[in-house]
Amino acid sequence: MSVNEKDLHSALKTFFGFSVFKGLQEPVIKSILSGKDTFVVMPTGGGKSLCYQLPALMQEGTAIVVSPLIALMKNQVDAIRGISDHDGVAHVLNSSLNKTEIKQVKQDITDGITKLLYVAPESLTKEENVEFLRSVKISFMAVDEAHCISEWGHDFRPEYRNLKSIIERIGDNIPIIGLTATATPKVQEDILKNLNIHDAKTFKASFNRPNLYYEVRPKTKNVDADIIRFVKKYEGKSGIVYCLSRKRVEELAQTLQVNGIKAVPYHAGLDAKTRAKHQDMFLMEDVDVVVATIAFGMGIDKPDVRFVIHHDIPKSIESYYQETGRAGRDGGEGYCLAFYAYKDIEKLEKFMSGKPVAEQEIGHALLQEVVGFAETSISRRKFILHYFGEEFDSETGEGAELDDNMRYPKKQLEAQDHVVLL
Ligand code: ADP
Ligand code: MG
Repeated sequence: MSVNEKDLHSALKTFFGFSVFKGLQEPVIKSILSGKDTFVVMPTGGGKSLCYQLPALMQEGTAIVVSPLIALMKNQVDAIRGISDHDGVAHVLNSSLNKTEIKQVKQDITDGITKLLYVAPESLTKEENVEFLRSVKISFMAVDEAHCISEWGHDFRPEYRNLKSIIERIGDNIPIIGLTATATPKVQEDILKNLNIHDAKTFKASFNRPNLYYEVRPKTKNVDADIIRFVKKYEGKSGIVYCLSRKRVEELAQTLQVNGIKAVPYHAGLDAKTRAKHQDMFLMEDVDVVVATIAFGMGIDKPDVRFVIHHDIPKSIESYYQETGRAGRDGGEGYCLAFYAYKDIEKLEKFMSGKPVAEQEIGHALLQEVVGFAETSISRRKFILHYFGEEFDSETGEGAELDDNMRYPKKQLEAQDHVVLL
């Protein structure tokens, strides 16, 4: 299908109410509409969903959207239904549906009403679903969160590995669209290989977050006091403090409270009601700080988070980037402060010791990158972007001066002294 610019913009306006495309959306959508396999790498919040939703709405047939989380699928389906006259325009196909509901979904697809069908990979493998989908018109298949296909990603899902063979059974020449916010070259290679879309048209947005300031400080036994001092400077502003363990989350939240800081804990060990309450308190600004494990953050969209502190260094650059990425979404200041001690790396290594060898090897390699990042004296932004396969000029690039190494370069002499002292 070929469309002109005007049609594309009016579809954007009609369906979503937006007047301009964000970033690379327009060329991505053109690529999809022309029937090409397409690969999209954009940071979180970049607007990936619209890249497949709009062409799905504009084309004949149904687009299959594979996504790992039922909650994410439901959100998207509700949003799409909100912009259409017919609820059947988007459906989820999963094990929670009863017979009548499944019949309705199939009817809407057969009638050509359904433009977007969201499925979890495990539902897609079901024989009866494959059989049914073979019999209807499919416009394309979008694989959202495509990094789930790779063991090098942060969220490996074995079921994602079967997608290519399933899609081949559903139909010949169905275009495949892979989308991810994981920019590491290894993960990308895995995606292209597993989906067998080596010739895909690839669109990659920059991962630079020019408004974030990166600092890594040595972690001493005074780390709590360091954190308190830092947070107090930001009184009345929102921030997140990440800790590795639930126990540490509880302790630190309490320590902050005792020191007059409005803080709440958040981790998967709290019941759902408490978690929801604490999250709301943060969003509504009844508290300034959430002390949390990595359970906190997925889908949190508070634009004015002013700082993200890592009490413990994360297990990969990828996680560090995602977690710090929750600061400064509005483009304003975002201070990313990580505390680092090599013994924390050893702790993380130890956690992995029970895992399969292949997994340990990957985990070890990822951790070595974290060590490199923590101990580097070059531009931290350059280090992160290089990890994601992106060139960055640490003199002239956007945000170049915003990290501890660039602002306070370690003097050659000091560095030498340091070596001698060791
Ligand atoms: P991603 O999946 O890349 O993390 P989303 O698809 O969830 O990002 O989109 C992030 C936000 O950007 C959403 O709130 C969405 O409504 C908004 N958005 C997407 N495209 C546009 C656009 N062209 N104009 C304005 N807002 C947009
Ligand atoms: Mg998304």
